Amino acid sequence: SLLPASHTAPRVLALANQKGGVGKTTTAINLGTALAAIGERVLILDLDPQGNASTGLGIDRRARAKSTYSVLVGDHSLAETIQETSVPRLSISPSTMDLSGVELEIASARDRAYRLRRAVESLGGDYSYVLIDCPPSLNLLTINAMTAADAILVPLQCEFFALEGLSQLIKTVEQVKTTLNPRLTIHGIVLTMYDARNNLSAQVVDDVRQFMGDKVYQTIIPRNVRVSEAPSYGKPVLLYDLKCVGSQAYLRLASEIIQRERVLRAA
Ligand code: ADP
Ligand code: MG
Repeated sequence: SLLPASHTAPRVLALANQKGGVGKTTTAINLGTALAAIGERVLILDLDPQGNASTGLGIDRRARAKSTYSVLVGDHSLAETIQETSVPRLSISPSTMDLSGVELEIASARDRAYRLRRAVESLGGDYSYVLIDCPPSLNLLTINAMTAADAILVPLQCEFFALEGLSQLIKTVEQVKTTLNPRLTIHGIVLTMYDARNNLSAQVVDDVRQFMGDKVYQTIIPRNVRVSEAPSYGKPVLLYDLKCVGSQAYLRLASEIIQRERVLRAA
C-alpha cells in the first residue's frame, strides 16, 4: 500500500480454539511481542475471563478497572482501556473475571455479536496488528472475536487429540462467515508444544499437515520450559530469555505471518 501505515486499519487476528491449554494465550503474548520487536504496533485484546494474557504481560489485577468487559457492556471505549506493557509498541486491553458474565448481560442486545467489532473499528490507525486472545469455548465472546477479526489463527497442541474439535471450530468459522462476517478466513494453524523426543509429536505434525495442507505454518513452536516460566515473571519469553528456542520460534512465526500478509495483500 502507498498509504502511510498510520492511515490503514489494523489486521485483526483472533487466536481461537475451544480447547484449553493449547497455547492460545502463550501465542498471543509471544507472537505479539515478536511482531512488536520487528516494528509492528500491536494491541492484544484479552477476551478470556481468566486474564492470563493480562497477567503474563505484567498487568496487576487491581489495575484493570477499565477492561474488555467494560468495553463490551458499553461503559468505556476500547481506547480508554488500553495500557502499555514493558514491551515497546505492545499494548493490551486487559480482562477481568466479570467477562464470564457478559454473555448473559448482553444476550438480549440486538448488536451482541458486533460489540467488539464496533470497538475495534473505533481504534483508528494506531495499530498494525490486533491480536484477540479468546476463551476456551465457542461462546458469545469467541463469536464477538470472530466477528471483529479478519482472520483466525488456530494454535494446535502436538498431542494425540490435536485434531479433535478442529472440525467443529472450522464449522463455527463457516457459520460466522455466512451470518456475521463475510471476510473471515483461517489465517493459519500453529502447532505448539512440539516435543522432538516424542514420536507422537512428529506423527501429529504429519496428520495435521495432511488434513490442513498449507494452512499449517512452517514454524512449529517447541515445548520449552523457558516459555512456561516467563508468565510468572509477568514477561513474554522474548524478554525473559531471547536466545531460547521458544523465543526464536516465535520470532520465526512473526516473520512468517508478515510474509503471508504480504501475499494476501498483493492478491
Ligand atoms: P490456552 O490459552 O490455549 O489455554 P496457554 O497458552 O495458557 O493455553 O498454555 C497452556 C499451558 O502450556 C501454560 O501453562 C503454558 O505456559 C504452557 N505452554 C504453552 N506453550 C508452551 C511451550 N511452547 N512450551 C512449554 N510450555 C508451554
Ligand atoms: Mg488462554
